[in-house]
Amino acid sequence: MQFLTSNMISFEFFPPKTVEGSTQLNETALALAKCQPQFFSVTFGAGGSTRDGTLETVSMLKNNTQIAVAPHLACIGTNKENIVDMLERYKALNLKRLVALRGDLPSGMGQAGEFKYASELVKLIRDCTGDHFRIDVAAYPEIHPQARSVHDDVLNLKRKYEAGANGAITQYFFNPDAYFYYIDDCQKTGISIPIVPGIMPISQFSRLARFSDMCGAEIPRWIRKRLESYGDDMNSIKQFGLEVVHQLCERLIKGGAPGLHFYTLNKAEAVKDLIDMLGLTVATSSRDGSAADFKVHIN
Ligand code: FAD
Repeated sequence: MQFLTSNMISFEFFPPKTVEGSTQLNETALALAKCQPQFFSVTFGAGGSTRDGTLETVSMLKNNTQIAVAPHLACIGTNKENIVDMLERYKALNLKRLVALRGDLPSGMGQAGEFKYASELVKLIRDCTGDHFRIDVAAYPEIHPQARSVHDDVLNLKRKYEAGANGAITQYFFNPDAYFYYIDDCQKTGISIPIVPGIMPISQFSRLARFSDMCGAEIPRWIRKRLESYGDDMNSIKQFGLEVVHQLCERLIKGGAPGLHFYTLNKAEAVKDLIDMLGLTVATSSRDGSAADFKVHIN
């Protein structure tokens, strides 16, 4: 069995819109930094709606924690000039990794711009910055809602891989078989980059249902029905959610997943509980310089 170590995990945040939101995110990041994750990532509103917010959040995380930060960069609704400008800024901040996406334009907002697909963005990043950035891209074990077929979607990941992606992070899912079948298809197609499962903790039902409808992630009927049946009983929702997602993570790690990327929604509690249950091991050096491992509990 494989164990979960700190360099296998990463945490995703979104740029807060208020001062209170910023304070909360700072506290969340400081709490989760104790796990010594491989990196934090910060989402980007397609069309540039959070451009400044993403930059500010990235700077805040970089200044207040020792953890590497990966901004997301979405190409739909923008042009090459803007992307090149963002790349320059991220290089100036000495950032070394990016999550490259197409993005989805908010309804009613503008034109698609110069880019159609994320593979074009990956190519542009490589053309402009060579190997400076490690690039992760998005992957969809339950198939992207606009893909023509399973095979087409896998071929799309291959296009991103061939354009220069170093790794992929998946949309969240609750059925581990969807991930294992997807990995099989990717390997058969010659994609040889790590594909890290995206993990969504369950702590509230209505928000999760709304998100899942929007992004095409399936909540299996038995999970949906149970969550519905708890109504406003938040304790039962949290308890059940923790059990389900813990089992999912265990199956993924035992099945060989190369890591776990947690969608935190800027809150530490649900992710902390999960990590404590999973028994994260942080690798560090002891006083005599030899490697030592210890289990972390983050309070
Ligand atoms: P693409 O890889 O371009 O794929 C989009 C669709 O086009 C797919 O259906 C694909 O199969 C199809 N396709 C691609 N190339 C071709 C081609 N040549 N011919 C025909 N079809 C093709 N969104 C944001 O706005 N901001 C974020 O910060 C953000 N972060 C995310 C992080 C992760 C880990 C994930 C999984 C998603 C994230 N998203 C984010 C959502 C993402 O932008 C959407 O899912 C979007 O709809 C697709 O983006 P993509 O990069 O996967 O696009």
